[in-house]
Amino acid sequence: LSADARTRSFWHWGFEEDFPDEAARGALAQMATALIPELGALRAVPLPRVDDAKLREPRIASQTPPRDRIIHAGGKGYRDILRAFRLDFAHAPDVVLYPERDEDIAAAFELCAREGAALVPFGGGTSVTSGVTYDGKRPVVCVDLGKRRRVLDVDKTSRLVRIEGGATGPDLEAQLAEHGLTLRFYPQSFELSTLGGWIATRAGGHFATGYTHIDDMVASLGMLSPSGAFETKTLPASGAGPDPNRLVLGSEGALGIVTEATVRAFVRPIYRASATVFFDALPRAVDAARAIAQSGLQPSACRVLDQNEALMSRVSGSECALVLGFESADHELVPWMDRALKLAVRAGGVLPEPARHQRGDRERKREGAADTWRSAFLRGPYLQSALVPYGVMVDTFETACTWARFESLDREVRAALEAELGRWGGGLVAMRFSHVYPDGPAPYYTFGVRADRGRELEQHDGIKRAVSDALVRAGGTITHHHAVGRLHARWYEGERPAPYERVLRAAKHALDPAAIMNPGVLLREE
Ligand SMILES: Cc1cc2nc3c(=O)[nH]c(=O)nc-3n(C[C@H](O)[C@H](O)[C@H](O)COP(=O)(O)OP(=O)(O)OC[C@H]3O[C@@H](n4cnc5c(N)ncnc54)[C@H](O)[C@@H]3O)c2cc1C
Repeated sequence: LSADARTRSFWHWGFEEDFPDEAARGALAQMATALIPELGALRAVPLPRVDDAKLREPRIASQTPPRDRIIHAGGKGYRDILRAFRLDFAHAPDVVLYPERDEDIAAAFELCAREGAALVPFGGGTSVTSGVTYDGKRPVVCVDLGKRRRVLDVDKTSRLVRIEGGATGPDLEAQLAEHGLTLRFYPQSFELSTLGGWIATRAGGHFATGYTHIDDMVASLGMLSPSGAFETKTLPASGAGPDPNRLVLGSEGALGIVTEATVRAFVRPIYRASATVFFDALPRAVDAARAIAQSGLQPSACRVLDQNEALMSRVSGSECALVLGFESADHELVPWMDRALKLAVRAGGVLPEPARHQRGDRERKREGAADTWRSAFLRGPYLQSALVPYGVMVDTFETACTWARFESLDREVRAALEAELGRWGGGLVAMRFSHVYPDGPAPYYTFGVRADRGRELEQHDGIKRAVSDALVRAGGTITHHHAVGRLHARWYEGERPAPYERVLRAAKHALDPAAIMNPGVLLREE
């Protein structure tokens, strides 16, 4: 594997080389003010310098260079970016380890048990729910899987691939491409996040239907826990008791370290079709998405964008949109797209341009609304970071609910968010569907507001509390794919069945008797 030559930023999303330069940041600030007039005049403060960061002395013997401790201090949610921007690294780990072998992981478990330290498994460090931020009293040992990034085995007959837990999206796609395969799993954090992290957080890719979560793709997995190896059997399906894979999926590093998994791969698609349908009102676009989600057509993209979302992603100036896409390695897509468009038009949509049908490998240049949307999607995280020096808070939250509940949920959530943003001068609210299911959508909200400099974390707390309370009150889940971490703990406790806490505690005790594994996620630290 060739290492990425780019330098990972110590504060913003992604790589230093890819961060917008000063002129681009200025233009972005202007665009933000045009989109959100409530922001008023914006003035940037200087960017932080890593050399100015002060770290506390490690509480256990440590050879870890300060920059490594800083990079592993947190994830990449708004709060993490803001804390790093302020050079607040009070929560940085004392030690960072990069195990190559299982024995090295076992040694990390022993070190933590001996020192009374917390062990935080770290994949790409892209958590947006404080999953890698241990703020408690114990010393912290961070275990980064960055040296375990290989594809170990390819079973082309069964289309199963065995991959190490530390492989990022680009790592594994480059290795699978040599076999004409793809995992076809693209979370927005694709560039940095890892297979082990996806499994630990039950991540969602950007395909709207079919295999949406990594859960659907895991045939078996291997986890090392302080009590020993936990390995499941590779099977296409099984009815033998509660599924052991499901205990590990979503375990967020609280039970052990996912070292590898055998996952379902695909032949690279060569047929693609895309189209954008416009609507004068959101309910009509929602009806269209529901009809398509319930039709059995399984589009790869079925993305409802409200007016602000369509504007931000440059798909439309003033209307709501439904971005549709299909892809296949096997067959032409004309009948599928035709039928989906019929359903969309019947719901009140307008199709200004005929659908685009393309044939060819992924290297072929593709254009069209689905691609415009996709490049904005991947660039988005840099923009969120670039607005921090201007004192603009941009963040997202997401949920899933039944179709029957969507309208009232959307109303309640917007009301709660707008009331809270109103306290800070008002701001922008945008919504899209990240995924759609026959029984309901996964709405994904973005907001932008002027940050109250120096009090951003309290401001963010207030907004997060208001919208999370509204989501849960209106019958949504606290998260469709952003995980629980520490940020969602309170709402997760209300969502899970009461006896399930005891079940989880018993599982944790069996696998992690000394309670060293990522204390505070899923279960309160005792
Ligand atoms: C800009 C941006 C876009 C995002 N887009 C998406 C998206 O489209 N879909 C989505 O689902 N999420 C998204 N996320 C959230 C995040 O990328 C996911 O939660 C992702 O799965 C985390 O993977 P990671 O490797 O970075 O894990 P980390 O952030 O390093 O860790 C997350 C959690 O998993 C645990 N963990 C990590 N690796 C392992 C392992 N090998 N074994 C056991 N536990 C482990 C950690 O201890 C922690 O609790 C996004 C985040 C950002 C910042």
